[in-house]
Amino acid sequence: MFEKNVNIPIINDFIPLASPDIRSEDIENVITVLQSGNLVQGKKVDQLEKAIAEYLHVDHCIAMNSGTSTLQLILLALGVGSGDEVIVPAFSYVATANVVENVGAKPIFVDIDVETFNINVQAVEESIGSRTKAIIPVHEFGLMVDTTPLMDLSEKHNLFVVEDAACALGAKDESQFAGTVGIAGSFSFHPRKAITSGEGGVVVTNEELLASKLRALRNHGIDSENTSRMDFIMAGYNCRMTDFQAAMLISQLNRSTEALKKRNHIASRYFEEIRNEKIQLPFIPKNKTPNWQTFHVMLREPLVQKEVIERLRKDGIGTNYGAQCIPEQSYYKNKYGYNCRIDFPNALRAYETGLALPIYEKLTDQEVTVIIENVNRL
Ligand SMILES: *Cc1c(COP(=O)(O)O)cnc(C)c1O
Repeated sequence: MFEKNVNIPIINDFIPLASPDIRSEDIENVITVLQSGNLVQGKKVDQLEKAIAEYLHVDHCIAMNSGTSTLQLILLALGVGSGDEVIVPAFSYVATANVVENVGAKPIFVDIDVETFNINVQAVEESIGSRTKAIIPVHEFGLMVDTTPLMDLSEKHNLFVVEDAACALGAKDESQFAGTVGIAGSFSFHPRKAITSGEGGVVVTNEELLASKLRALRNHGIDSENTSRMDFIMAGYNCRMTDFQAAMLISQLNRSTEALKKRNHIASRYFEEIRNEKIQLPFIPKNKTPNWQTFHVMLREPLVQKEVIERLRKDGIGTNYGAQCIPEQSYYKNKYGYNCRIDFPNALRAYETGLALPIYEKLTDQEVTVIIENVNRL
């Protein structure tokens, strides 16, 4: 069976945009769970939740089947629904706004800051109205939003801050971890994120009641407090994580500081060695420690995003736009009639001229050199 493939050359000179670092210890942990027969949410999920809560210094961690599920169930648990408005950045992954639509509320898009790609906090205040119930700041590309003014606003207007920290595991603002500032923080374990289980996510919170509601919602509405008999206290969902996914995450979490060091090293090489006036490097405010989930540059004229992606692909390097201008997507554009060039110019510009470069643990120094050489030639 394998012999047939002998003459097919293995093409490994393509550098993908992202590639998860799954090691044999992760695989062995998964096999152990598979052999145990306990596949659904169980001891390994418990263990993962404890490990993440400890790492981020929070009281509660609730694992689920995706980052999107965690965001959606947080909104449901907080009672956000029909008639409510939720403020979201215009530049993010589309899931940030989809969850708002899917609980029956209306997303209110706010443009981003041109330097950090994060939601513009001043513009947030202007968008708060009588129906506003929550704000979902996104720590875009693993760089934390200015949470202090945002929390002040939320207190002043009595709003929930739900952090979409999907990309930001390990990122910090001063000494505060992403995901631990608002009433709840959401993380994703999609393969593009810092650690991965294929699909998966967690919520972290210090609110006991919220945590208990989320535990019920993710598991058909089960009363997780009552251990004496099985009882269902709400019409919940099945958003559980499997135990084998949790098992592969635990060992990756243990290596995450080491992995972050590696990404930091690559980022500093990009900063030092990319010398091209047509490439605008990212800006990192002083007190922030990004986790470098993405290294996002902006292309200056005459570079054209589509052409650059294609040219780098031909040179063996995978790149892509960094995130979407969500109100520019057909569903949102048709439903709400936005003109993004006027309504969200910064988000549209980032969507149309941004470029994510490869940055991940497995990238070798030699590959980084190849990427830098090609970027400098653009
Ligand atoms: C990846 C991502 C999500 C969605 O997470 P999934 O685990 O893929 O559902 C949500 N928001 C942002 C900002 C993301 O990057």
